[in-house]
Amino acid sequence: MAKVNPYHTKKSTEVYHVCKGCTVGNNIESENHTGGKGRKRLCSICEQLVRERKC
Ligand SMILES: [Zn+2]
Repeated sequence: MAKVNPYHTKKSTEVYHVCKGCTVGNNIESENHTGGKGRKRLCSICEQLVRERKC
């Protein structure tokens, strides 16, 4: 697991991700994958991974 630069999907979700191992982040199709926070909030799964130092 590793922390990566913030990324999100171009689809209308409300979250961005920072963990390579995030299951939600991993489901983003490559054509919709884009960098940055996109003025969204941090994904709860990423937040938990960071808190548990698994990210
Ligand atoms: Zn995430």
